[in-house]
Amino acid sequence: MKTFDHTGKVFAITGGSRGIGEAIVRRLAAEGAHVFATYHSQPERAEAIASEIRAAGGQATFLQVNVSDEEQVKGFIDTVVSQGGRIDGLVNNAGITKDGLIMRMSTQDWASVIDTNLSGVFYACKAAARPMMSQRSGRIVNIGSIVGLQGNAGQANYSSAKAGLVGLTKSLARELASRNVFVNCVAPGFVETDMTSKLTDEQKAAYFGNIPMKRGAQPDEIASVVSFFLAQESSYITGQILNVDGGLAM
Ligand code: NAP
Repeated sequence: MKTFDHTGKVFAITGGSRGIGEAIVRRLAAEGAHVFATYHSQPERAEAIASEIRAAGGQATFLQVNVSDEEQVKGFIDTVVSQGGRIDGLVNNAGITKDGLIMRMSTQDWASVIDTNLSGVFYACKAAARPMMSQRSGRIVNIGSIVGLQGNAGQANYSSAKAGLVGLTKSLARELASRNVFVNCVAPGFVETDMTSKLTDEQKAAYFGNIPMKRGAQPDEIASVVSFFLAQESSYITGQILNVDGGLAM
């Protein structure tokens, strides 16, 4: 479904091989953009998505990147700029969970979630800020979570990383607005992806019971909001955290 017109734009998306990132890649390519996306562990899946997009007349390129490695992230953004000729938008979507109550959470599980979900976003924003400032235009969309606002038992690492994205989003929005670079954060509630498929039906039912809409989101219901923040239609918005959660946090 085409909503916004991104014809001729160049976008970089981390974690485009599954779930929310895949939906973002497919939507932005269908809306006319040349999409550069990363995968981490699933090259076949990434290639299948790119092939389908190209067969439909779109432009998609996948590269293997570990977002917790600063050099790899910088290399990805450099490739986007050199092959795409510019970078109109960056979507920081890649993320992991390593849940556990704090008494049982290892320092390694704390660090790997912070490295991937928070430091990885810092690396990508830092690399993209320079070309965007030179262009005097750009959009950055960070994928946060409502648990970054509310906290969640068993997710001290994940919720801390997502809370960190709130501060990062607002700080960069203040730093970059005068250069016409806008930074916002989309904070999903429950989305039906591999990340949430580990939950039992009972756990899901309990979670859905607290959501006014009584259901989780499909990935494209997040992708459409990301597309808005990348579009001309959101030209007077920066530094915002938008919950996309069926009314869960209000
Ligand atoms: P997902 O289905 O588990 O997909 C995760 C994506 O991140 C995959 O493309 C994966 O690549 C990539 N990735 C994982 N580790 C990486 C690394 N170290 N470097 C680069 N890429 C890496 O997750 P999702 O549910 O779509 O979540 C996407 C984002 O939304 C995350 O930031 C998540 O925190 C956030 N979010 C999700 C929910 C939800 O309910 N699902 C709710 C709120 C926020 P490979 O496939 O190649 O491994």
